Amino acid sequence: MNDLQTNAERSAGGAKALAPTPAPRILIVEDESALSMLLAYNLEAEGFVVDRVERGDEAEMRLAETPPDLVILDWMLPGVSGLEICRRLRAREATRTLPVIMLTARGEESERVRGLSIGADDYVVKPFSVPELMARVRALLRRARPDRVATVLTAGDLELDRQNWRVRRKGRDVHLGPTEFRLLEHLLERPGRVFSRAQLLDSVWGLSAEIDERTVDVHVGRLRKALSEPGERDPIRTVRGAGYSFDETFGKS
Ligand code: CA
Repeated sequence: MNDLQTNAERSAGGAKALAPTPAPRILIVEDESALSMLLAYNLEAEGFVVDRVERGDEAEMRLAETPPDLVILDWMLPGVSGLEICRRLRAREATRTLPVIMLTARGEESERVRGLSIGADDYVVKPFSVPELMARVRALLRRARPDRVATVLTAGDLELDRQNWRVRRKGRDVHLGPTEFRLLEHLLERPGRVFSRAQLLDSVWGLSAEIDERTVDVHVGRLRKALSEPGERDPIRTVRGAGYSFDETFGKS
């Protein structure tokens, strides 16, 4: 999406108590552009940084230039095949343990065995459900780079568990709707960083959302109400004329 932030900028905003996470970078190598775009859209919505290439030989160059944290690799590609790319990744020291998910078409099942023997970490048979692939991506990243996908984000007395979709404050359950949950998660990933309403609509609601910016205010209002009991400090900061941020001093003063 229109997120031009670099990894460095993302991590610069992160307080120590929170996830030490620059967003994991994912390379999609897939020549069916509709599928590739669909995956990119869904991965970006979950906060990943996504690169896409359509040819095997391009993938080789991209892998050398910008090493990703995980590769989604189609089997049949123009240029160099996914299988060959995987073999080469495993042969090089720098990429020996790079997580790879292979995409295969139905009917290539016997080939899958070859894919796994050549070192793919996982494989998914087309057509697959997008949530299923997302789950595999998260699982593989957690296994391979646990530091890159923090399951629980915390700040002061507030705790957000991404895996169980649970939020607690001072140990009590905070009940949030899905939009409020994603909103809090997004703000909490980069404490101190101010997001405009348009940016929040883009990242939390998604590109296709044609929603009035005041909707953001409504959901921020609900989030605030759910998070704080009377007398408790509000962790969300309104920045006049700019937008909203998670107060980076929350829990520290
Ligand atoms: Ca293909």
